[in-house]
Amino acid sequence: MNSHGTLYTVSAPSGAGKTSLVAALVKSNPEVCVSISHTTRAMRPGEEDGVNYHFVNHATFETMLESGDFLEHARVFSNLYGTSQQWVVERLSQGIDVILEIDWQGAEQVRKLMPETVSLFILPPSLAALRQRLTGRGQDDEAVIEARMQEAISEISHYIEADYLIINDDFTIALAQLQSLITSQHLRLSRQAVKHQALLSELLG
Ligand code: GDP
Ligand code: ADP
Ligand code: 5GP
Repeated sequence: MNSHGTLYTVSAPSGAGKTSLVAALVKSNPEVCVSISHTTRAMRPGEEDGVNYHFVNHATFETMLESGDFLEHARVFSNLYGTSQQWVVERLSQGIDVILEIDWQGAEQVRKLMPETVSLFILPPSLAALRQRLTGRGQDDEAVIEARMQEAISEISHYIEADYLIINDDFTIALAQLQSLITSQHLRLSRQAVKHQALLSELLG
């Protein structure tokens, strides 16, 4: 039995809190890492190339796409987003868990390619709270926020395709729920059997 990391997809309407939750999870859990997507979207104030995203132009994205560099890709809010295949596959084969913060179209593609992927959907407690968070984040102008609110219901309708659902009302509770999900995956027999091979052999004499 080889040690193999678990692949997670985390989807949510823009502003539901997926980036904050996943960032907090990774901070306290070094066994898990987040894939940094490539995107053609403009950088927001405070964002850094190679940290939040690999920011690329359309031509570079298309070239990468033609070269088969992406595990999945999708057009969201008229921008292109894609996940680096090589980066993800390398981490998983090293036994490291990888989280993809991607939209439902991407999650669907990944599930088809890797059916063992664990998919999570995050929802806000209300549409009013979603709007408040998008506004409070202070990084998008009014037109962009309006477009994201318009898209929210269509994104939300895809919650039904996920394995797990977390409502991000109280941040601390939602984070504890996310942590429980990761812990339960670590306790799966297939992983525990690899991790505790020596103990199991000893116990069985
Ligand atoms: P935010 O979600 O409000 O922080 O806005 P972003 O511009 O960062 O992301 C917009 C949408 O693109 C979200 O639904 C993300 O889940 C999605 N997204 C980001 N990276 C990827 C990716 O690599 N692939 C796919 N398919 N979707 C992505
Ligand atoms: P996403 O990545 O899903 O677009 P973010 O993580 O950027 O969402 O969160 C959007 C905004 O909402 C941020 O300003 C964040 O601090 C805030 N936020 C996240 N979770 C909560 C919560 N449970 N209660 C209140 N505000 C939150
Ligand atoms: P980040 O996306 O970098 O994790 O978080 C951005 C900011 O939002 C940070 O200042 C973070 O503390 C704050 N934040 C994240 N979640 C919550 C929340 O539930 N409530 C409040 N009040 N602030 C939050």
